[in-house]
Amino acid sequence: MTSNTEKRYAAIFDFDGTLVESHPRRNIAHSKVCDFLLKYLNIQGEIQEKVLLNLIELMEREMNEKHIYNRNIWWKEAVKRYFSKDISESISESTLNELTTIYWQTVSDESKIFPGVEDLLASLWQKGIKLGLMSDTDGLEGMKAKRIEDAGLVEYFDAIIIPGEDTKDTKPSTQPFIKICAALGVAPENCVHVGDNPQVDILGAKELGMKTIILTPDKTHFKEKILIPDYLIELKDIKKLEELIPELLNEKNAK
Ligand SMILES: [Mg+2]
Repeated sequence: MTSNTEKRYAAIFDFDGTLVESHPRRNIAHSKVCDFLLKYLNIQGEIQEKVLLNLIELMEREMNEKHIYNRNIWWKEAVKRYFSKDISESISESTLNELTTIYWQTVSDESKIFPGVEDLLASLWQKGIKLGLMSDTDGLEGMKAKRIEDAGLVEYFDAIIIPGEDTKDTKPSTQPFIKICAALGVAPENCVHVGDNPQVDILGAKELGMKTIILTPDKTHFKEKILIPDYLIELKDIKKLEELIPELLNEKNAK
């Protein structure tokens, strides 16, 4: 390969909600965590079970919004709210770790690669575009890397970065975006970032001059969002990215 034909462009993908369907499966993980806690704390009764489960589900929304990814903190907070007092010291660190492992193993077992993802990655690679994968830490060292490996997607990527483990900051900070560009050997302005969460997948990328694409199950979903990607594409149309991404990168080349 001569220097003229070396890959100078890259597409950087997020993982959860972008390449794999893992979010709708979290309710199964919530139930398993809840069952474990009910036994551990000796809680009985249908209403009590429902209250605890609702609190666990609330943690999923609330903590993700605050970018707190360490699930051990979630379980302690759910228990604290359940009892309306802090009894978290009575739950050992190893029990919290066990709960977090149950949670992630369930998510991993239930996750599925979205239809069309592997065709898209293969197509971009064939068109001479480097591929990066960048997905925030799961809050448990090594867990995200394991889930990516379990999904069977590692072989497609030239570089994988886990913000929060490989870098101090998580998305949307520019820090992890800079790091993956360096790992790929591609300038940020020659990259496209593809994610599913406007809160974390747009800002850092845009600041560095990357184009941004958000994949979504439903476009109407995003009417109220302030952060706007360059393209909003429905997951059922993922095949469109096989042409759109090379076009976006060539456009930049022409400028
Ligand atoms: Mg995501």
